[in-house]
Amino acid sequence: MLIDGELVGGTSSFPSINPANGEVVGYAPDGTIADAERAIAAARRTFDTTDWATNVELRIRCLEQLHAALVEHSEELRELTIAEVGAARSATEGAHLDAPVAIAGYYAELLKTYPMSEDLDDLEYMGMRNRRWVEKEPAGVVAAIIAYNYPTQLALAKVIPALAAGCTVVLKGAPDTPLITLALGEIIAKYTDIPAGVVNVISSTNPEVGAVLTTSPDIDMVTFTGSTATGRKIMAAASDTIKKVFLELGGKSAMIVLDDADFAMAAMMAAFMITSHAGQGCALTSRMLVPRERHDEIVELVKQNLAMVVCGDPADPATYMGPLISERQRDKVDAMVKRATEAGATLVMGGKAIEGPGYFYEATLLTDVNPDSEIAQEEVFGPVLTVIPYDDEDDAVSIANNSIFGLSGAVLGAHDRAVAVARRVRTGTFSINGGNYSAPDSPFGGYKQSGIGREMGVSGLEEFLERKTFAAVVG
Ligand code: NAD
Repeated sequence: MLIDGELVGGTSSFPSINPANGEVVGYAPDGTIADAERAIAAARRTFDTTDWATNVELRIRCLEQLHAALVEHSEELRELTIAEVGAARSATEGAHLDAPVAIAGYYAELLKTYPMSEDLDDLEYMGMRNRRWVEKEPAGVVAAIIAYNYPTQLALAKVIPALAAGCTVVLKGAPDTPLITLALGEIIAKYTDIPAGVVNVISSTNPEVGAVLTTSPDIDMVTFTGSTATGRKIMAAASDTIKKVFLELGGKSAMIVLDDADFAMAAMMAAFMITSHAGQGCALTSRMLVPRERHDEIVELVKQNLAMVVCGDPADPATYMGPLISERQRDKVDAMVKRATEAGATLVMGGKAIEGPGYFYEATLLTDVNPDSEIAQEEVFGPVLTVIPYDDEDDAVSIANNSIFGLSGAVLGAHDRAVAVARRVRTGTFSINGGNYSAPDSPFGGYKQSGIGREMGVSGLEEFLERKTFAAVVG
Protein backbone atom coordinates (compact mmCIF):
# COMPACT_ATOMS: atom_id res chain seq x y z
CA MET A 1 0.00 0.00 0.00
CA LEU A 2 1.09 3.61 -0.29
CA ILE A 3 0.66 5.45 3.01
CA ASP A 4 2.24 8.83 3.74
CA GLY A 5 4.76 8.39 0.94
CA GLU A 6 5.91 4.91 2.05
CA LEU A 7 5.23 1.65 0.24
CA VAL A 8 4.11 -0.63 3.06
CA GLY A 9 2.84 -4.19 3.54
CA GLY A 10 0.01 -5.14 5.86
CA THR A 11 -0.16 -7.29 8.96
CA SER A 12 -1.86 -9.91 6.78
CA SER A 13 -2.59 -10.37 3.08
CA PHE A 14 -5.21 -11.84 0.76
CA PRO A 15 -4.92 -13.48 -2.66
CA SER A 16 -5.98 -11.88 -5.92
CA ILE A 17 -7.35 -14.59 -8.21
CA ASN A 18 -7.01 -14.80 -11.99
CA PRO A 19 -10.66 -15.21 -13.02
CA ALA A 20 -9.67 -17.04 -16.22
CA ASN A 21 -8.05 -19.98 -14.41
CA GLY A 22 -8.62 -19.63 -10.66
CA GLU A 23 -4.89 -19.29 -9.96
CA VAL A 24 -3.38 -16.78 -7.56
CA VAL A 25 -1.99 -13.71 -9.37
CA GLY A 26 -0.43 -12.29 -6.22
CA TYR A 27 -1.19 -11.18 -2.69
CA ALA A 28 -2.43 -7.79 -1.54
CA PRO A 29 -2.04 -6.35 1.96
CA ASP A 30 -5.28 -6.75 3.91
CA GLY A 31 -5.41 -3.20 5.19
CA THR A 32 -6.92 -2.54 8.61
CA ILE A 33 -8.94 0.31 9.99
CA ALA A 34 -5.69 1.59 11.58
CA ASP A 35 -4.06 1.63 8.09
CA ALA A 36 -7.01 3.62 6.74
CA GLU A 37 -6.75 6.05 9.65
CA ARG A 38 -3.03 6.56 9.03
CA ALA A 39 -3.73 7.19 5.34
CA ILE A 40 -6.48 9.68 6.19
CA ALA A 41 -4.22 11.47 8.69
CA ALA A 42 -1.44 11.73 6.09
CA ALA A 43 -3.79 13.12 3.46
CA ARG A 44 -5.25 15.62 5.95
CA ARG A 45 -1.87 16.82 7.20
CA THR A 46 -0.52 17.18 3.66
CA PHE A 47 -3.57 19.12 2.55
CA ASP A 48 -3.49 21.44 5.57
CA THR A 49 0.26 22.08 5.88
CA THR A 50 1.84 21.96 2.40
CA ASP A 51 1.43 24.13 -0.70
CA TRP A 52 -0.06 21.25 -2.78
CA ALA A 53 -3.50 22.89 -2.71
CA THR A 54 -2.21 26.19 -4.11
CA ASN A 55 0.82 25.26 -6.23
CA VAL A 56 -0.64 24.79 -9.70
CA GLU A 57 2.80 24.61 -11.36
CA LEU A 58 3.80 21.68 -9.13
CA ARG A 59 0.55 19.88 -9.85
CA ILE A 60 0.95 20.28 -13.62
CA ARG A 61 4.49 18.89 -13.41
CA CYS A 62 3.42 15.94 -11.26
CA LEU A 63 0.51 15.06 -13.54
CA GLU A 64 2.79 15.17 -16.58
CA GLN A 65 5.25 12.88 -14.79
CA LEU A 66 2.46 10.53 -13.81
CA HIS A 67 1.17 10.41 -17.37
CA ALA A 68 4.66 9.65 -18.71
CA ALA A 69 5.24 6.96 -16.05
CA LEU A 70 1.91 5.29 -16.80
CA VAL A 71 2.71 5.23 -20.50
CA GLU A 72 6.19 3.88 -19.81
CA HIS A 73 4.87 1.09 -17.57
CA SER A 74 1.78 0.32 -19.60
CA GLU A 75 2.98 -3.10 -20.76
CA GLU A 76 3.40 -4.32 -17.15
CA LEU A 77 0.04 -2.80 -16.27
CA ARG A 78 -1.49 -4.49 -19.34
CA GLU A 79 -0.36 -7.97 -18.30
CA LEU A 80 -1.59 -7.39 -14.76
CA THR A 81 -4.96 -6.11 -16.02
CA ILE A 82 -5.41 -9.20 -18.17
CA ALA A 83 -4.41 -11.55 -15.35
CA GLU A 84 -6.25 -9.92 -12.47
CA VAL A 85 -9.29 -8.27 -14.05
CA GLY A 86 -9.85 -10.87 -16.78
CA ALA A 87 -9.87 -8.08 -19.38
CA ALA A 88 -9.43 -9.23 -22.97
CA ARG A 89 -6.05 -8.08 -24.33
CA SER A 90 -7.74 -6.08 -27.12
CA ALA A 91 -9.86 -4.25 -24.53
CA THR A 92 -6.75 -3.09 -22.66
CA GLU A 93 -6.06 -0.91 -25.70
CA GLY A 94 -9.27 0.93 -24.84
CA ALA A 95 -11.29 1.34 -21.66
CA HIS A 96 -9.23 -1.01 -19.50
CA LEU A 97 -5.89 0.77 -19.81
CA ASP A 98 -4.79 2.97 -22.71
CA ALA A 99 -7.88 5.18 -22.59
CA PRO A 100 -7.67 5.86 -18.82
CA VAL A 101 -3.92 6.54 -19.02
CA ALA A 102 -4.78 9.40 -21.40
CA ILE A 103 -6.84 11.02 -18.60
CA ALA A 104 -3.61 12.08 -16.85
CA GLY A 105 -2.38 13.89 -19.96
CA TYR A 106 -5.75 15.55 -20.48
CA TYR A 107 -5.93 17.06 -16.97
CA ALA A 108 -2.29 18.20 -17.04
CA GLU A 109 -3.17 20.21 -20.18
CA LEU A 110 -6.51 21.44 -18.84
CA LEU A 111 -4.84 22.78 -15.70
CA LYS A 112 -2.61 25.03 -17.84
CA THR A 113 -5.59 27.04 -19.06
CA TYR A 114 -8.43 26.40 -16.61
CA PRO A 115 -9.36 29.66 -14.83
CA MET A 116 -9.01 29.24 -11.06
CA SER A 117 -10.55 32.68 -10.55
CA GLU A 118 -13.47 34.50 -12.20
CA ASP A 119 -14.47 38.16 -11.90
CA LEU A 120 -18.03 39.24 -11.21
CA ASP A 121 -19.33 42.70 -12.14
CA ASP A 122 -18.72 45.46 -9.58
CA LEU A 123 -21.68 45.96 -7.28
CA GLU A 124 -22.93 49.23 -5.78
CA TYR A 125 -24.15 48.52 -2.26
CA MET A 126 -25.17 51.09 0.38
CA GLY A 127 -23.25 53.78 -1.46
CA MET A 128 -20.08 51.72 -1.74
CA ARG A 129 -18.50 50.11 -4.71
CA ASN A 130 -17.74 46.39 -4.27
CA ARG A 131 -15.17 44.59 -6.38
CA ARG A 132 -16.18 40.91 -6.49
CA TRP A 133 -14.60 37.73 -7.70
CA VAL A 134 -14.82 33.97 -7.25
CA GLU A 135 -11.79 31.79 -6.56
CA LYS A 136 -11.85 28.06 -6.98
CA GLU A 137 -10.23 26.03 -4.23
CA PRO A 138 -9.80 22.28 -3.81
CA ALA A 139 -12.59 20.43 -1.98
CA GLY A 140 -10.03 19.06 0.49
CA VAL A 141 -9.24 15.48 1.48
CA VAL A 142 -10.94 13.03 -0.86
CA ALA A 143 -11.79 9.38 -0.23
CA ALA A 144 -11.97 7.47 -3.52
CA ILE A 145 -13.58 4.03 -3.43
CA ILE A 146 -13.81 1.97 -6.60
CA ALA A 147 -15.52 -1.08 -8.11
CA TYR A 148 -13.69 -4.11 -9.47
CA ASN A 149 -14.61 -4.05 -13.13
CA TYR A 150 -12.51 -1.29 -14.77
CA PRO A 151 -10.14 -0.51 -11.89
CA THR A 152 -7.66 1.66 -13.78
CA GLN A 153 -10.34 3.74 -15.46
CA LEU A 154 -12.21 4.17 -12.19
CA ALA A 155 -9.11 5.04 -10.16
CA LEU A 156 -7.65 7.51 -12.66
CA ALA A 157 -10.98 9.21 -13.42
CA LYS A 158 -11.13 10.05 -9.71
CA VAL A 159 -7.54 10.53 -8.59
CA ILE A 160 -6.28 12.58 -11.55
CA PRO A 161 -8.91 15.36 -11.50
CA ALA A 162 -8.79 15.37 -7.68
CA LEU A 163 -5.03 16.01 -7.87
CA ALA A 164 -5.50 18.58 -10.62
CA ALA A 165 -7.91 20.43 -8.33
CA GLY A 166 -5.36 20.39 -5.47
CA CYS A 167 -7.03 17.78 -3.30
CA THR A 168 -5.22 15.01 -1.43
CA VAL A 169 -6.57 11.49 -1.78
CA VAL A 170 -7.03 8.15 -0.05
CA LEU A 171 -7.83 5.58 -2.74
CA LYS A 172 -9.22 2.17 -1.82
CA GLY A 173 -9.13 -0.51 -4.49
CA ALA A 174 -11.78 -3.21 -4.89
CA PRO A 175 -11.18 -6.49 -3.03
CA ASP A 176 -11.52 -8.48 -6.29
CA THR A 177 -8.92 -6.42 -8.20
CA PRO A 178 -6.55 -4.86 -5.64
CA LEU A 179 -3.17 -5.39 -7.34
CA ILE A 180 -3.69 -3.13 -10.34
CA THR A 181 -4.76 -0.29 -8.02
CA LEU A 182 -1.76 -0.88 -5.75
CA ALA A 183 0.45 -0.76 -8.86
CA LEU A 184 -0.77 2.80 -9.50
CA GLY A 185 0.36 3.73 -5.99
CA GLU A 186 3.76 2.22 -6.63
CA ILE A 187 4.15 4.19 -9.87
CA ILE A 188 3.18 7.41 -8.08
CA ALA A 189 5.70 6.73 -5.28
CA LYS A 190 8.59 5.72 -7.51
CA TYR A 191 8.30 7.85 -10.62
CA THR A 192 6.70 11.16 -9.70
CA ASP A 193 7.37 14.16 -7.45
CA ILE A 194 3.87 13.93 -5.98
CA PRO A 195 4.67 14.77 -2.35
CA ALA A 196 4.32 12.16 0.40
CA GLY A 197 0.78 11.99 1.74
CA VAL A 198 -0.88 13.54 -1.33
CA VAL A 199 -1.96 10.15 -2.67
CA ASN A 200 -2.47 7.15 -0.39
CA VAL A 201 -3.57 3.79 -1.77
CA ILE A 202 -4.93 0.99 0.38
CA SER A 203 -6.39 -2.48 -0.15
CA SER A 204 -8.60 -4.49 2.17
CA THR A 205 -11.17 -7.25 2.29
CA ASN A 206 -12.90 -5.58 5.23
CA PRO A 207 -15.89 -3.40 4.22
CA GLU A 208 -15.36 -1.49 7.50
CA VAL A 209 -12.14 -0.09 6.06
CA GLY A 210 -14.17 1.47 3.24
CA ALA A 211 -16.76 2.58 5.74
CA VAL A 212 -14.15 4.50 7.81
CA LEU A 213 -13.37 6.54 4.70
CA THR A 214 -17.00 7.61 4.52
CA THR A 215 -17.40 8.61 8.17
CA SER A 216 -14.06 10.15 9.17
CA PRO A 217 -14.40 13.86 10.04
CA ASP A 218 -11.02 14.38 8.33
CA ILE A 219 -12.45 13.43 4.91
CA ASP A 220 -14.16 16.29 3.07
CA MET A 221 -15.49 14.44 0.06
CA VAL A 222 -16.23 10.86 -0.99
CA THR A 223 -16.09 9.83 -4.63
CA PHE A 224 -17.45 6.34 -5.14
CA THR A 225 -17.98 4.00 -8.05
CA GLY A 226 -19.83 0.78 -7.37
CA SER A 227 -23.27 -0.69 -6.92
CA THR A 228 -26.31 1.41 -6.14
CA ALA A 229 -26.81 -0.62 -2.92
CA THR A 230 -23.36 0.38 -1.61
CA GLY A 231 -23.85 3.92 -2.92
CA ARG A 232 -26.95 4.28 -0.73
CA LYS A 233 -24.96 3.15 2.34
CA ILE A 234 -22.15 5.58 1.54
CA MET A 235 -24.51 8.50 1.08
CA ALA A 236 -26.15 7.71 4.43
CA ALA A 237 -22.79 7.22 6.20
CA ALA A 238 -21.44 10.49 4.81
CA SER A 239 -24.47 12.43 5.99
CA ASP A 240 -23.38 12.63 9.64
CA THR A 241 -20.47 14.86 8.67
CA ILE A 242 -22.24 16.37 5.61
CA LYS A 243 -19.54 15.33 3.18
CA LYS A 244 -19.72 16.16 -0.46
CA VAL A 245 -20.67 12.85 -2.11
CA PHE A 246 -20.02 11.93 -5.72
CA LEU A 247 -21.56 8.65 -6.89
CA GLU A 248 -21.16 6.58 -10.07
CA LEU A 249 -23.55 3.66 -9.63
CA GLY A 250 -25.34 0.93 -11.51
CA GLY A 251 -27.14 0.96 -14.82
CA LYS A 252 -29.72 -0.87 -16.91
CA SER A 253 -29.29 0.95 -20.17
CA ALA A 254 -31.51 0.49 -23.19
CA MET A 255 -30.62 0.31 -26.87
CA ILE A 256 -33.57 1.52 -28.92
CA VAL A 257 -33.70 0.19 -32.47
CA LEU A 258 -35.96 2.40 -34.57
CA ASP A 259 -37.84 0.84 -37.48
CA ASP A 260 -35.64 2.67 -40.02
CA ALA A 261 -32.38 1.48 -38.41
CA ASP A 262 -29.81 -0.77 -39.99
CA PHE A 263 -30.85 -3.97 -38.18
CA ALA A 264 -27.66 -5.88 -39.01
CA MET A 265 -25.60 -3.09 -37.46
CA ALA A 266 -27.92 -2.89 -34.44
CA ALA A 267 -27.70 -6.64 -33.84
CA MET A 268 -23.93 -6.59 -34.08
CA MET A 269 -23.66 -3.66 -31.68
CA ALA A 270 -26.05 -5.20 -29.18
CA ALA A 271 -24.20 -8.54 -29.21
CA PHE A 272 -20.72 -7.08 -28.91
CA MET A 273 -21.79 -4.54 -26.31
CA ILE A 274 -23.32 -7.06 -23.90
CA THR A 275 -20.36 -9.44 -24.17
CA SER A 276 -17.75 -6.72 -23.75
CA HIS A 277 -15.89 -7.57 -20.49
CA ALA A 278 -18.46 -10.38 -20.14
CA GLY A 279 -21.18 -7.80 -19.47
CA GLN A 280 -19.40 -6.34 -16.44
CA GLY A 281 -19.83 -2.72 -17.45
CA CYS A 282 -22.09 -0.18 -15.83
CA ALA A 283 -23.02 1.58 -19.08
CA LEU A 284 -23.55 -1.46 -21.32
CA THR A 285 -26.91 -1.66 -23.03
CA SER A 286 -28.47 -4.74 -21.46
CA ARG A 287 -32.00 -4.12 -22.76
CA MET A 288 -32.58 -4.07 -26.51
CA LEU A 289 -35.88 -2.46 -27.51
CA VAL A 290 -37.11 -3.41 -30.98
CA PRO A 291 -40.20 -2.67 -33.11
CA ARG A 292 -42.71 -5.43 -32.33
CA GLU A 293 -43.28 -6.35 -35.99
CA ARG A 294 -39.54 -6.81 -36.59
CA HIS A 295 -38.83 -8.62 -33.29
CA ASP A 296 -38.21 -12.17 -34.56
CA GLU A 297 -35.99 -11.02 -37.42
CA ILE A 298 -33.82 -8.91 -35.07
CA VAL A 299 -33.61 -11.68 -32.45
CA GLU A 300 -32.30 -14.03 -35.14
CA LEU A 301 -29.63 -11.49 -36.16
CA VAL A 302 -28.56 -10.95 -32.54
CA LYS A 303 -28.33 -14.70 -32.04
CA GLN A 304 -26.05 -15.04 -35.07
CA ASN A 305 -23.80 -12.26 -33.76
CA LEU A 306 -23.64 -13.65 -30.23
CA ALA A 307 -22.58 -17.00 -31.69
CA MET A 308 -19.60 -15.24 -33.31
CA VAL A 309 -18.26 -13.80 -30.05
CA VAL A 310 -14.91 -15.41 -29.31
CA CYS A 311 -14.87 -16.36 -25.64
CA GLY A 312 -11.79 -17.71 -23.90
CA ASP A 313 -8.39 -16.90 -22.43
CA PRO A 314 -8.26 -13.09 -22.14
CA ALA A 315 -4.50 -13.16 -22.78
CA ASP A 316 -5.14 -14.47 -26.31
CA PRO A 317 -5.35 -11.51 -28.74
CA ALA A 318 -8.20 -13.29 -30.60
CA THR A 319 -10.42 -13.35 -27.50
CA TYR A 320 -13.26 -10.87 -27.27
CA MET A 321 -15.04 -12.09 -24.12
CA GLY A 322 -13.18 -13.21 -21.01
CA PRO A 323 -14.53 -14.53 -17.71
CA LEU A 324 -16.68 -13.07 -14.97
CA ILE A 325 -14.66 -11.88 -12.00
CA SER A 326 -15.50 -14.66 -9.53
CA GLU A 327 -17.52 -17.78 -8.82
CA ARG A 328 -19.78 -15.58 -6.69
CA GLN A 329 -20.51 -13.25 -9.60
CA ARG A 330 -21.11 -16.18 -11.96
CA ASP A 331 -23.55 -17.76 -9.49
CA LYS A 332 -25.37 -14.44 -9.22
CA VAL A 333 -25.70 -14.13 -13.01
CA ASP A 334 -26.84 -17.74 -13.36
CA ALA A 335 -29.44 -17.38 -10.60
CA MET A 336 -30.89 -14.27 -12.28
CA VAL A 337 -31.17 -16.06 -15.63
CA LYS A 338 -32.89 -19.03 -13.95
CA ARG A 339 -35.34 -16.76 -12.16
CA ALA A 340 -36.06 -14.97 -15.46
CA THR A 341 -36.98 -18.20 -17.25
CA GLU A 342 -39.05 -19.33 -14.26
CA ALA A 343 -40.89 -16.00 -14.53
CA GLY A 344 -41.74 -16.73 -18.18
CA ALA A 345 -38.80 -15.45 -20.25
CA THR A 346 -37.65 -17.55 -23.22
CA LEU A 347 -34.00 -18.59 -23.23
CA VAL A 348 -32.94 -18.23 -26.87
CA MET A 349 -29.32 -19.14 -26.28
CA GLY A 350 -26.73 -19.47 -23.51
CA GLY A 351 -27.89 -19.53 -19.92
CA LYS A 352 -25.20 -21.57 -18.24
CA ALA A 353 -21.66 -21.59 -16.92
CA ILE A 354 -18.93 -22.82 -19.24
CA GLU A 355 -17.24 -25.90 -17.81
CA GLY A 356 -13.54 -25.91 -17.07
CA PRO A 357 -11.27 -23.65 -15.06
CA GLY A 358 -12.17 -19.99 -14.65
CA TYR A 359 -15.51 -18.24 -14.24
CA PHE A 360 -16.77 -18.15 -17.83
CA TYR A 361 -20.45 -17.82 -18.68
CA GLU A 362 -22.17 -18.31 -22.02
CA ALA A 363 -23.38 -15.32 -24.01
CA THR A 364 -27.08 -15.35 -23.17
CA LEU A 365 -30.15 -14.06 -24.97
CA LEU A 366 -33.61 -13.78 -23.41
CA THR A 367 -36.90 -12.83 -25.05
CA ASP A 368 -40.53 -12.64 -23.84
CA VAL A 369 -39.29 -10.61 -20.92
CA ASN A 370 -41.77 -8.59 -18.89
CA PRO A 371 -40.32 -5.03 -18.76
CA ASP A 372 -41.22 -4.88 -15.05
CA SER A 373 -39.57 -8.18 -14.14
CA GLU A 374 -36.31 -8.56 -12.26
CA ILE A 375 -34.22 -9.37 -15.34
CA ALA A 376 -35.42 -6.18 -17.07
CA GLN A 377 -35.07 -4.00 -13.97
CA GLU A 378 -32.00 -5.18 -12.05
CA GLU A 379 -28.39 -4.99 -13.12
CA VAL A 380 -27.10 -8.48 -14.06
CA PHE A 381 -23.42 -7.62 -14.66
CA GLY A 382 -23.00 -10.61 -16.95
CA PRO A 383 -23.30 -11.34 -20.69
CA VAL A 384 -27.10 -11.43 -20.63
CA LEU A 385 -29.16 -9.47 -23.16
CA THR A 386 -32.92 -9.12 -23.02
CA VAL A 387 -34.88 -8.18 -26.14
CA ILE A 388 -38.13 -6.34 -25.49
CA PRO A 389 -40.62 -5.35 -28.23
CA TYR A 390 -42.26 -1.90 -28.36
CA ASP A 391 -45.33 -0.65 -30.20
CA ASP A 392 -44.31 2.88 -31.19
CA GLU A 393 -41.70 5.51 -30.38
CA ASP A 394 -43.56 6.72 -27.28
CA ASP A 395 -43.70 3.16 -26.02
CA ALA A 396 -39.97 2.67 -26.67
CA VAL A 397 -39.10 5.84 -24.72
CA SER A 398 -41.41 4.83 -21.90
CA ILE A 399 -39.84 1.34 -21.61
CA ALA A 400 -36.34 2.86 -21.73
CA ASN A 401 -37.29 5.25 -18.91
CA ASN A 402 -38.99 2.49 -16.89
CA SER A 403 -35.93 2.03 -14.67
CA ILE A 404 -34.57 3.32 -11.38
CA PHE A 405 -31.30 3.80 -13.30
CA GLY A 406 -30.32 6.48 -15.83
CA LEU A 407 -26.73 5.91 -16.78
CA SER A 408 -26.55 5.51 -20.55
CA GLY A 409 -28.33 4.41 -23.68
CA ALA A 410 -28.15 3.97 -27.40
CA VAL A 411 -30.43 4.55 -30.35
CA LEU A 412 -30.16 3.51 -33.97
CA GLY A 413 -32.17 5.03 -36.82
CA ALA A 414 -32.35 8.09 -39.06
CA HIS A 415 -30.18 10.75 -37.40
CA ASP A 416 -32.73 13.48 -36.56
CA ARG A 417 -35.31 11.01 -35.33
CA ALA A 418 -32.68 9.16 -33.29
CA VAL A 419 -31.48 12.40 -31.65
CA ALA A 420 -35.06 13.34 -30.79
CA VAL A 421 -35.57 9.95 -29.12
CA ALA A 422 -32.23 10.22 -27.26
CA ARG A 423 -33.31 13.58 -25.81
CA ARG A 424 -36.37 11.96 -24.26
CA VAL A 425 -34.49 9.25 -22.36
CA ARG A 426 -33.29 10.35 -18.91
CA THR A 427 -29.67 9.22 -18.85
CA GLY A 428 -26.25 10.86 -18.59
CA THR A 429 -24.80 9.63 -21.88
CA PHE A 430 -26.24 8.48 -25.20
CA SER A 431 -24.80 6.82 -28.27
CA ILE A 432 -26.46 7.59 -31.61
CA ASN A 433 -25.86 5.11 -34.41
CA GLY A 434 -22.79 3.74 -32.68
CA GLY A 435 -21.34 7.08 -31.52
CA ASN A 436 -18.64 6.85 -28.83
CA TYR A 437 -19.31 9.22 -25.93
CA SER A 438 -16.36 8.06 -23.82
CA ALA A 439 -13.25 10.30 -23.82
CA PRO A 440 -11.18 12.20 -21.24
CA ASP A 441 -12.91 15.48 -22.18
CA SER A 442 -16.49 14.21 -22.05
CA PRO A 443 -18.51 14.19 -18.83
CA PHE A 444 -19.76 10.78 -17.73
CA GLY A 445 -22.32 10.01 -15.06
CA GLY A 446 -25.87 9.11 -14.28
CA TYR A 447 -29.36 10.43 -13.71
CA LYS A 448 -31.71 8.97 -11.12
CA GLN A 449 -30.22 6.12 -9.03
CA SER A 450 -27.22 5.79 -11.36
CA GLY A 451 -25.47 8.50 -9.42
CA ILE A 452 -24.70 12.10 -8.63
CA GLY A 453 -22.15 14.20 -10.49
CA ARG A 454 -20.05 13.89 -13.63
CA GLU A 455 -16.64 12.34 -14.01
CA MET A 456 -14.06 13.46 -16.59
CA GLY A 457 -14.01 16.59 -18.72
CA VAL A 458 -14.16 20.07 -17.18
CA SER A 459 -17.11 18.89 -15.04
CA GLY A 460 -14.90 16.13 -13.63
CA LEU A 461 -12.41 18.75 -12.38
CA GLU A 462 -15.13 21.03 -11.02
CA GLU A 463 -16.57 18.21 -8.89
CA PHE A 464 -13.38 18.55 -6.80
CA LEU A 465 -13.50 22.34 -6.50
CA GLU A 466 -15.15 24.62 -3.98
CA ARG A 467 -16.02 28.18 -4.91
CA LYS A 468 -15.17 31.08 -2.61
CA THR A 469 -16.79 34.42 -3.34
CA PHE A 470 -14.82 37.58 -2.41
CA ALA A 471 -16.17 41.09 -2.13
CA ALA A 472 -13.91 44.07 -1.41
CA VAL A 473 -14.97 47.67 -0.97
CA VAL A 474 -13.00 49.71 -3.52
CA GLY A 475 -14.65 53.09 -3.37
P1 NAD B 1 -19.61 -2.81 -4.81
O1 NAD B 1 -20.62 -1.76 -4.55
O2 NAD B 1 -19.85 -4.16 -4.26
O3 NAD B 1 -18.18 -2.36 -4.25
C1 NAD B 1 -17.54 -1.19 -4.68
C2 NAD B 1 -16.52 -0.74 -3.65
O4 NAD B 1 -17.16 -0.34 -2.44
C3 NAD B 1 -15.50 -1.80 -3.26
O5 NAD B 1 -14.23 -1.20 -3.21
C4 NAD B 1 -15.98 -2.22 -1.88
O6 NAD B 1 -14.94 -2.73 -1.09
C5 NAD B 1 -16.50 -0.92 -1.33
N1 NAD B 1 -17.47 -1.01 -0.24
C6 NAD B 1 -18.35 -2.00 0.02
N2 NAD B 1 -19.12 -1.68 1.08
C7 NAD B 1 -18.72 -0.45 1.50
C8 NAD B 1 -19.15 0.44 2.53
N3 NAD B 1 -20.16 0.12 3.35
N4 NAD B 1 -18.54 1.63 2.66
C9 NAD B 1 -17.55 1.99 1.81
N5 NAD B 1 -17.09 1.18 0.81
C10 NAD B 1 -17.68 -0.02 0.66
O7 NAD B 1 -19.44 -2.85 -6.41
P2 NAD B 1 -18.64 -3.91 -7.30
O8 NAD B 1 -19.34 -5.23 -7.25
O9 NAD B 1 -17.19 -3.83 -7.02
O10 NAD B 1 -18.83 -3.26 -8.76
C11 NAD B 1 -19.94 -3.44 -9.56
C12 NAD B 1 -20.87 -2.25 -9.51
O11 NAD B 1 -20.18 -1.05 -9.83
C13 NAD B 1 -22.00 -2.34 -10.51
O12 NAD B 1 -23.20 -1.97 -9.89
C14 NAD B 1 -21.63 -1.31 -11.57
O13 NAD B 1 -22.70 -0.78 -12.30
C15 NAD B 1 -20.95 -0.28 -10.77
N6 NAD B 1 -20.10 0.55 -11.61
C16 NAD B 1 -20.53 1.80 -11.94
C17 NAD B 1 -19.76 2.60 -12.80
C18 NAD B 1 -20.20 4.00 -13.17
O14 NAD B 1 -19.37 4.75 -13.66
N7 NAD B 1 -21.45 4.40 -12.96
C19 NAD B 1 -18.56 2.11 -13.31
C20 NAD B 1 -18.16 0.81 -12.95
C21 NAD B 1 -18.94 0.05 -12.09
